[in-house]
Amino acid sequence: MSSNLLDRRTFLTRAALLGGVAAGASLLAACGKGGGSLQCTDTAGLKPDEAATRTNLNYVDASTDPAKACNGCSLFVAGPEGACGSCPIVKGPINPNGACASWVKKA
Ligand code: SF4
Repeated sequence: MSSNLLDRRTFLTRAALLGGVAAGASLLAACGKGGGSLQCTDTAGLKPDEAATRTNLNYVDASTDPAKACNGCSLFVAGPEGACGSCPIVKGPINPNGACASWVKKA
């Protein structure tokens, strides 16, 4: 085996590994996970009335009052670790640190 072939094989192996890492990072970013702050703002799949309810209840992705964030609301349904959760009255992805006008203290 020539050293030229070995260098080529090493290069291809490293390129494949880097490609896998890049693909994984893209997937995490697409589902709202990953290094940065969690974003639960993709409402593209909502029906117009669901989107309107989200707006009318003043849902925000980051509560101005951490004591009244979604993760402390009795209606919040947590998602997997580091992912958006859900809510029975505000459809779409719900940020654990978000809030809306219908916040009810978790018992
Ligand atoms: S009711 Fe409002 S505050 Fe409570 S989980 Fe749903 S969106 Fe968050």
